[in-house]
Amino acid sequence: MKKFAQSKAGKVVIALVALLFVGAIAQPGQQTANVSSSMPQETASQAASSSQADESSSGGASAEAPAAAPAGSADAPAAAGVKAHFIDVGQGDSEFIELPDGKTMLIDAGVPDAGQTVVSYLKGLGCTRIDYLVATHPHADHIGGLPAVISAFDIGEVWAPKATNTTQTFEAFIDAVRAKGLQIHAGSAGMDIVGADAGYSVSIIAPPDGVNSDDYNDYSLVIKLVYGNTSFLFTGDAPAETIAAAQPGHVDVLKVAHHGSNTGTTGALISALSPTYSVISYGIGNDYGHPTEKVLTMLTSHSQHVLGTGANGTIAIASDGTTVTASCDRPDAQVEPGSKGGNGSGGGSSGTAAAAAGAAAGAGTVVAGDESANDTVYITASGKGECYHRKGCSTLKRSKLVAVSRSDAEAQGLRPCTRCNP
Ligand SMILES: [Zn+2]
Ligand SMILES: [Zn+2]
Repeated sequence: MKKFAQSKAGKVVIALVALLFVGAIAQPGQQTANVSSSMPQETASQAASSSQADESSSGGASAEAPAAAPAGSADAPAAAGVKAHFIDVGQGDSEFIELPDGKTMLIDAGVPDAGQTVVSYLKGLGCTRIDYLVATHPHADHIGGLPAVISAFDIGEVWAPKATNTTQTFEAFIDAVRAKGLQIHAGSAGMDIVGADAGYSVSIIAPPDGVNSDDYNDYSLVIKLVYGNTSFLFTGDAPAETIAAAQPGHVDVLKVAHHGSNTGTTGALISALSPTYSVISYGIGNDYGHPTEKVLTMLTSHSQHVLGTGANGTIAIASDGTTVTASCDRPDAQVEPGSKGGNGSGGGSSGTAAAAAGAAAGAGTVVAGDESANDTVYITASGKGECYHRKGCSTLKRSKLVAVSRSDAEAQGLRPCTRCNP
């Protein structure tokens, strides 16, 4: 029999690896007490300061008033429409989604230092509750900021893949879940976070149940949101092959996988998705050369608009069920390929090998023996890097550096640079 037989309402809650999760299985009744699923009273802070995108520019914007009713007139939890915010968290991922029934979803929250950015942004929207909180996979640039978010808001359901990590970043996430008495729903393909009877649906289309890999990116929850005739696809850092195998069909809005690395995108995938909007979440000057020129070329040939948080800042894309419209902080900016030192996911001929090797180093789990725990290593002062380095690493030419111990760097969820092998 099928372990995870699904009914529409049937979300199977699975206690994840007992060692870490047993404490998280506590009284879930708590969080239902305060059910003010109030929507942002005013989304104007975002909309007003930026213009509405239309077809006139590849940067995606012209100056007209927001057409798609922002899901946020005050006191209107039943506001029509979907609005997805791709929050600029530097190198990392964070998407906040206002749903048609007034509920809210947050997918990832960037690195630990980005947690406050996300919290402030959501508070600026008037958000007090996150009904569905998703941790796509246990890498620091996705789950790092979640503890700050979990402690700052009323949280409904928490979803994550069946994967655990040994980093402090991951443990902080688990601790935050536990501290709120929440459970984790272990997601895999075929499960609905929100069933279609809600008037829209939020489905997990990958990874398949039972996926087993050394690369945490392979566990990324890939989530498809359908509202009316429009659809959004959120991909975490999933490999292109996994996304393609799930056959999502055409989507109007694509959160490009893995920050625009070569592993997350193939021509075949993008051609099949033919997204109206492609959004890349990345930080300018990142260590990986994200997004790659190759990926940008694919995106621009199959997507009407290519936006990125590094270039455009925070991006909001709204759907009224028929049309999607975008607004952003810097509508005239163009997404440029990352400049890299030739390492990481940018440089590989196969893309897959190079980027997967970097990612498989996995936020510190598989690396650096204890004997070297007191070595001095270098990290970027901005906190935007995902790696630690030797002094003089060529990928750091433009960065301000801070010396830290290797163990501290790892405690922050950073991993050794694949170029300088610290
Ligand atoms: Zn990532
Ligand atoms: Zn990742």
